Amino acid sequence: MMKENLRNERDCILCGSESYEILHYYPKEYYNHKQYITYSWDGGHKIDFQVVKCNKCGLVYLNPSFTEESLHYLYPTSIIPENLTYNNLIKNHNFNFLIKPIIGKIYKMPLKSKVNMIDIGTRYGVLPELLSKKGFNAFGIEYNKKCVEVAHKNGIKNIYQGKLQDIEKISNELKISNFNLVTLIDVIEHLINPLEELRLISKFQKKGDRMIITTMNLDSLGYKIFKEDWHYIHNQHMFYFNKKTIEKLFHKLSYEIEYVSNTKKLIDLIIIPKLIMNWFKHKIRRDNFHNINEKKEWFAKHRPHFFDLFTIVFKHK
Ligand SMILES: [Zn+2]
Repeated sequence: MMKENLRNERDCILCGSESYEILHYYPKEYYNHKQYITYSWDGGHKIDFQVVKCNKCGLVYLNPSFTEESLHYLYPTSIIPENLTYNNLIKNHNFNFLIKPIIGKIYKMPLKSKVNMIDIGTRYGVLPELLSKKGFNAFGIEYNKKCVEVAHKNGIKNIYQGKLQDIEKISNELKISNFNLVTLIDVIEHLINPLEELRLISKFQKKGDRMIITTMNLDSLGYKIFKEDWHYIHNQHMFYFNKKTIEKLFHKLSYEIEYVSNTKKLIDLIIIPKLIMNWFKHKIRRDNFHNINEKKEWFAKHRPHFFDLFTIVFKHK
């Protein structure tokens, strides 16, 4: 493929402005390709990239960003492990932050009435599987064929292979016209146009229904400290929200914030020494280009972060 087809320059998806300031610029080979595995950094292509901030509305995004046709460079199927079992998927899940403290607050369990839910970008379908055990009528959509194969092989049935746009097809098949709960966990930052894509999903929700989003927070301690070295910056992540910008996006879709959950600052403080060590390791390795005898390493292995995610419950107006 021609390199110039890889990416698109674009205007702000929230306000249409083409005026922006550059927050971070990474030249070509910021991570030397002889030393680093870079599929999510630059799709394994030797390209520069930049994170920009809209001058009008403050939205932070990659510009240019990868086109839909080029996404497979960023998401190779070869990295999906095949030897997962049902037990280790279910036992090692990391949805404890979500199920009891957030979903459990909205829907008193055991459920008194039917709740249809769908998890977008569900990976192996673990979240819907856990929620169906609690009585939810729960489903998942996953784009990566291999994840869906692994899920099906392990008896996780309620997961469909497809893009977010396939919600229409899937809802027809399931004869469900209304999803009371939609979850996107670590997904919204990967979407090419979250405004348009979420608009599609919102057609399947009514007044009072919820959409729950977990994504990394630009107002977090981690971003404030680590800036351009922050773990979460790479080409898979096309959008970087804070509370203000994500609220603007959902306002356009007629949702209001019901609840925001941030990680406790105390936990962040405990891990500081280990993080600072990693951060140094990262800088030393990156700046010592010529030492190519070492084994290739994933570029983000030592890129630092705290628990910099936030989870927002939006309620349809
Ligand atoms: Zn804007």
